[in-house]
Amino acid sequence: MTEATKQIQMVDLVAQYESMKAEIDQAILNVVQSSAYINGPEVRDFQSELEAYLGVKHVIPCANGTDALQIAMMALGLKPGDEVIAPSFTFVATAEVIALLGLTPVLVDADPHTFNLDPACLEAAITPKTKAIVPVHLFGQCANMDEIMDIARKHNLYVVEDTAQAIGADYCGAKYSGKAGTIGEFGTTSFFPSKNLGCYGDGGALFTNDDKLAENARYIANHGMKVRYYHDMIGVNSRLDSIQAAVLRIKLRRLSDYNAARNKAAAYYDSAFADVAELSTPARAPWSTHVFHQYTLVTHGIDRDALRDYLAEKGVPAMVYYPVPLHMQKAYKDPRYNEGDFPHTEQLSAAVISLPMHTELTEDQLALITHSVKEFIRNQQ
Ligand SMILES: *Cc1c(COP(=O)(O)O)cnc(C)c1O
Repeated sequence: MTEATKQIQMVDLVAQYESMKAEIDQAILNVVQSSAYINGPEVRDFQSELEAYLGVKHVIPCANGTDALQIAMMALGLKPGDEVIAPSFTFVATAEVIALLGLTPVLVDADPHTFNLDPACLEAAITPKTKAIVPVHLFGQCANMDEIMDIARKHNLYVVEDTAQAIGADYCGAKYSGKAGTIGEFGTTSFFPSKNLGCYGDGGALFTNDDKLAENARYIANHGMKVRYYHDMIGVNSRLDSIQAAVLRIKLRRLSDYNAARNKAAAYYDSAFADVAELSTPARAPWSTHVFHQYTLVTHGIDRDALRDYLAEKGVPAMVYYPVPLHMQKAYKDPRYNEGDFPHTEQLSAAVISLPMHTELTEDQLALITHSVKEFIRNQQ
C-alpha cells in the first residue's frame, strides 16, 4: 500500500478517460468539424444504440435526468393537484420536479435492507387523487417492480422509473423482466459525468415502449412542436448535445464492462466486511442485478461521521447519500409530515456511508480503504 495507492477518488473519471483517450478525442473532434452540434447524427445513432441495449422501443434523449423526469410527467398529462408517490429516501430531483409541476409529492418509506421504496407502504399512501408512482432504483439495484406494478395496475396509476443510478441493471422478477427502466410507462435516466453511463457534461434520456407517450415526450422536449413553429402543447427546451452523444456511444459499448468492474469492487468490499458486526453490506434483492452506482454500508453502534472523518485523514473519500430525508428538507417542509414519519429513511440517513466506487479501483486501493474502515472500528473497542 505505497505508491500504488495513488490518490483515491470517489469517482475517477480522468483514469477512465485515459483508458480510451484516442477514441474519445477523435469522436469529439469529428463533431466539432461536422458543425452538427445539436441533433446531429451522433444523437440519432446513440438513441438507436441505447434502444437496442435496453431492449426498449423508444429512447428520447434530453438535457439531463431531472428534465427526463419532468418530461415524463408532462407527457403523461399529469395536472396540478394530482398526487405522485415518491420515496422519502432519494436524491431531491424526483420531488423537485413533482413540486415544480404543481403536483403533490406523497412520500413513502424505504425498505431498510435494499434502500428502495417499500411496496408494503404504497397502498396506505394512495388516495383518489393519486396518479403516478415514481420508484427510484437507488444505488444501482431495482426496486421490487412486481409488487409496485401490481399495485399500480390495481389502482390505475402510471409508473415512472427513475433509473439515473441503475442504468444497465437487469430486473428479473416473477412477472416482469427487462433492463431497469423498461417496465413502467416511462424510465428516465441521467448521463451526469459520475453516473454509471456518464458523459462529459449534462445529458439525460427517457425510455418507453408506448408509441403515443414517446411521441408526446419528443414534442414536449422540443418546445411542444410537431411541425416547425406550430406548437400544439406547452413544452420545454431539453436537448442532448452531439458531443455528449459521441462520448456516450463510446461509453455505452463499455457499459457492461464498467458494471462488471463495479461488481468486482463490490465483491471485494463484501468479503472484507463480511464478519464486521458494526457494518451491514448492501443487500442483494433476488429480483435484480446490482450495478453499484454506490457501494453503501449501514453502520451499527459506531459514530458514522467520525468514521468519515477518520477515512478522510487516511486519504479515503467517503460520502453520505443522503444525510437529510426529503420530508426534513427545508424546501419540502410540509405540514403533512413530521420527524418520525419515515423511520427507516431517518435511520438510514443517520447510519449510511458510501465508499469509493468506480471502474478504475485497484486492489491496492481497495485494500487501503477496507483496512482503514476496519482500523477505525478496532480503535473504538
Ligand atoms: C442524478 C440523479 C437525478 C438527476 O439527474 P441530473 O442529470 O443531474 O438532472 C435524478 N434522480 C436520481 C436518483 C439521480 O441520482
